[in-house]
Amino acid sequence: MAARKPFVGGNWKMNLHTAEAHALARSVATSCDGREVDVAIFPAFPYLAEVGTVLQGQPQPGVMLGAQDVYHQSNGAFTGEVSVTMLQDLNVTVVLAGHSERRHVLGESDLLVNAKVRAALKAGLEVILCIGETLEQREAGQTDAVNAAQLCYGLAGVDPAQMSRVTIAYEPVWAIGTGRTATPQDAQDAHKAARGMLGHLFGATIAEATRIQYGGSVKAANAAELFAQPDIDGGLIGGASLKAEEFIGIVEAASNATVKG
Ligand code: PEP
Repeated sequence: MAARKPFVGGNWKMNLHTAEAHALARSVATSCDGREVDVAIFPAFPYLAEVGTVLQGQPQPGVMLGAQDVYHQSNGAFTGEVSVTMLQDLNVTVVLAGHSERRHVLGESDLLVNAKVRAALKAGLEVILCIGETLEQREAGQTDAVNAAQLCYGLAGVDPAQMSRVTIAYEPVWAIGTGRTATPQDAQDAHKAARGMLGHLFGATIAEATRIQYGGSVKAANAAELFAQPDIDGGLIGGASLKAEEFIGIVEAASNATVKG
């Protein structure tokens, strides 16, 4: 069975301008090189080219360039949207799909998330599919059901052979950007249930090989205990990815975690 190498993503959201993006990308690229962990950073669209140049310019480019979103159509009258091939032109290799801010602030449906997942995978990109419950859903005991439904919809029509390019990010909505983190045990329980659902969809071997990141107010100080959980394979990091020292500390915690699977 394939071991699950930890994977840490830095989602910069709608933050940073040219000079800051350049400096942060440089620090991350030089500090994360050569570690036993996969690392990706996700700048805002206008800075993908700039950040890509920084990453490519490293002696051994190791940090992946990621996009926070993608549109599923290949071209045409879709004002404001960005296609898979446009991202590939800029050397993007991984995209987020279904981030909770896109689902809950911008109103993206499961159907749209699924179209994006399929288009990105078809083109050969890696995908991080984000799932997670709201506070209301957690308090109603619906956490696992919500995650299962988002996995079913999000991965509908995905070929088992494509699953090696899929990572799941479990991000409880109430923990994102709020300073509230799920306890390691609560996060582990949700990850285990999500992995169980992957088993129903794709079989045990694929479920065991698929990485599931935790996201929601992860910091250098709490990363190690989260990443020590048996079903947590790194993290998707928002706020703390904007500070080089914090993000590098999180990557370090991931590289110190035991390899699972
Ligand atoms: C995120 O945006 O994916 C996220 C987890 O944000 P934060 O780390 O700020 O909670």
